[in-house]
Amino acid sequence: SSPSKRSYSITLLPGDGIGPEVTAIAKNVLVLAGSLEGIKFDFREMLLGGAALDETGVPLPDETLAVAKQSDAILLGAIGGYKWDKFEKHLKPETGLLQIREGLKVFANLRPAIVFPQLVDASALKREIVEGVDLMVVRELTGGIYFGKPRGFGSDENGEETGFNTEIYAAYEVDRIARFAFEIARKRRGKLCSVDKANVLEASMFWRKRVQTMALEYPDVELSHMYVDNASMQLVRYPKQFDTILTNNIFGDILSDEASMITGSIGMLPSASLGDSGPGLFEPIHGSAPDIAGQDKANPCATVLSAAMLLKYGLGEDDAAERIENAVLDTLNRGFRTADIHSDGTKLVGCKQMGEEIMKSVESQV
Ligand code: ATP
Ligand code: MG
Repeated sequence: SSPSKRSYSITLLPGDGIGPEVTAIAKNVLVLAGSLEGIKFDFREMLLGGAALDETGVPLPDETLAVAKQSDAILLGAIGGYKWDKFEKHLKPETGLLQIREGLKVFANLRPAIVFPQLVDASALKREIVEGVDLMVVRELTGGIYFGKPRGFGSDENGEETGFNTEIYAAYEVDRIARFAFEIARKRRGKLCSVDKANVLEASMFWRKRVQTMALEYPDVELSHMYVDNASMQLVRYPKQFDTILTNNIFGDILSDEASMITGSIGMLPSASLGDSGPGLFEPIHGSAPDIAGQDKANPCATVLSAAMLLKYGLGEDDAAERIENAVLDTLNRGFRTADIHSDGTKLVGCKQMGEEIMKSVESQV
């Protein structure tokens, strides 16, 4: 379907550490790809995380959330750093991230894990990686045990101290994330694996029942179910068996990190957090990397690919998204590498030059 609106407002949240370096590049790439595809962007840069704490005393200023909510999509760099480690919990940069996710009501977290064939031999990765992995984890982000009540500390019938949390999923919560996952699986290779612990947990039994019911609307998607303990083994044993994985908040937290590690390259992986209506939030999966911040060493690919997800999942601008994805692959094919993915026989470049090479590739895509 061809989108009707071709001019978009983007909230830019550079954040901390390498965040400003990588978002600057992703912004340039968006502008260029947009101009080649007939799309205009209007950017507003706002404060979040440590940068916001330093300026305003809070990790998520009201104005940032208000501007973000009014925009068509949000591109975030990364937040946090040593500097704010000693701050109290409600005054930590990370709190700003949780608050903005909550404020935007983004309940679906999409994390692709792709092994780039160009990087399979990258010695800098210092990891074993499996060629051909291309999967997507769809994690429920705003419900489940991380938010369920009652929660807290108490004591049991014997007076022993306890700590407790509650996993609750309402039908609408399972249904909306399941629908998301089925739609995504349909656009990918048509396979969906729902991960739960339905042999032990009622919340999981309920989850599985709702997913099975939803499957009736998607006869073209091949649905399977897996217990989370088995899924974590299978991800390491034979990750290529997976296409789209659907799971709850806590299992998704763990499995999406596991899936990203089997690709070996944290500097390459994007993410999207989406709601029913309203703008989505797009960010690299890596953190603010304070150890290399300000040194022009960061790999901008994860943020550039997050901008591609912004176009595809946030704005429905698939052509521009594909142009950017292909440009990143082309840049790798032409041998350019930042230090984190460097290997013998490839060209070591800094963050800025990597960005310039991606721009050249954006322009040369047909
Ligand atoms: P957070 O808690 O915010 O997720 P973290 O402590 O888990 O942060 P990162 O900030 O992601 O970790 O950094 C982990 C390691 O990966 C660091 O050594 C960092 O330099 C490296 N790294 C992360 N992102 C990139 C990138 N884009 N390019 C190059 N190296 C990166
Ligand atoms: Mg981390």
